[in-house]
Amino acid sequence: VLPDDAARRDDLEATARRILGAAGYRRIETPIFEATELFARGVGEATDIVQKEMYSFDDGGGRSLTLRPEGTAPVCRAYVEHGMHKLPQPVRLWYLGSFFRRERAQAGRYRQFWQVGAEAIGSDDPALDAETIVVLVELLEAVGVRSARLRLGSLGSPETRAAYRERLAAHLRSREDELSDEVRRRIELNPLRAFDADHPGTQRVMETAPRLIDFLTADDAEHFAQVRALLDDVGVAYEIDTSLVRGLDYYTRTLFELTSEELGAQSGVGGGGRYDGLIEQLGGSPTPGVGWAAGIERMLLAAGSVDEESTDGGVDLLVARVPDSPATTAFRLAADARRAGLRAELETGGRSLKGQLKHADRIGARRVAIVGPDGVALKDMASGEQREIPAADVVAAVSGG
Ligand code: AMP
Repeated sequence: VLPDDAARRDDLEATARRILGAAGYRRIETPIFEATELFARGVGEATDIVQKEMYSFDDGGGRSLTLRPEGTAPVCRAYVEHGMHKLPQPVRLWYLGSFFRRERAQAGRYRQFWQVGAEAIGSDDPALDAETIVVLVELLEAVGVRSARLRLGSLGSPETRAAYRERLAAHLRSREDELSDEVRRRIELNPLRAFDADHPGTQRVMETAPRLIDFLTADDAEHFAQVRALLDDVGVAYEIDTSLVRGLDYYTRTLFELTSEELGAQSGVGGGGRYDGLIEQLGGSPTPGVGWAAGIERMLLAAGSVDEESTDGGVDLLVARVPDSPATTAFRLAADARRAGLRAELETGGRSLKGQLKHADRIGARRVAIVGPDGVALKDMASGEQREIPAADVVAAVSGG
């Protein structure tokens, strides 16, 4: 992350803090690595992430650790470990940090990437599903993500899903010879992934596959209807996608994904859903939750380049030196200015005085203190006006406007 990118990321982080903070989410940061077991159990053994994308290593003490590939399982672990069920529910949390997946790197897909995420744990109210979605949509709008499209689905309960998986597996088996090798090999392990396939034969088979949404229980269908009604109410546009699948096993009920046409092949900007079984699976008592994660790099890519100046801002004072004048006065002046809260830079490039003034122009310095053998001159870069001034008065003069 180079300085120009860092400035845009800082802006994004500030926007996330503002929007999530206003909705009652509080920051949490979990460790970069965790026990491999957490992700194997939390994300799901059969998922691509666990099967082929985790950076796992032996820590030399016989433990297998993994660089975190996602944030929900660690946040839920922290919820259980730190007794957050005793806090008023739901507990709203957000995070921003780097994540790691062993993927083939390409534009918008990296092996180390950053995500901002939000989790609301401890309530199964459909208003919370809708709230998290609205907050994510608001964030993407504020960041300037263009052409975002929201797709929404529902997975129902684990029982519904298990019964459905059987039905889907039966459908796949009945036309096994038309499927890609990979899908065929994983019919029993993870038939849902067949919806994701770009293999033409598999896609043909999937056109007539049974749809989970048609098998939801009355409760789950009602929950989904309420989420939709709330989104309609606040005017958030979405499409129902009955074949929506995501690469993590823990989702139940609501599932959503935001994509942007600006991104090409790696079009996912963010996504999430409800995970009512996850905390129990991690050793806590049954606790519902819902959340999402969005990729920082993808958001910035989809927002396009910004023309305006980065928020680095300008420099209040450049302390220039007439060559061969004593270094101490200039050094002390810059230090005093910074201590007084000014942004001050000391000339150290060995430039001629003319070169230093040109440099002052380039970095947008408002004033230049020219330190010579016999005193200091303060130059206003906007007006070009220059006057002699005692060294001890420079900071006050610059602070004063
Ligand atoms: P996921 O955790 O897979 O649901 O991903 C959530 C979001 O993280 C995606 O929509 C992307 O914006 C981002 N993301 C996931 N994997 C990567 C990656 N390898 N490189 C960059 N961004 C990623």
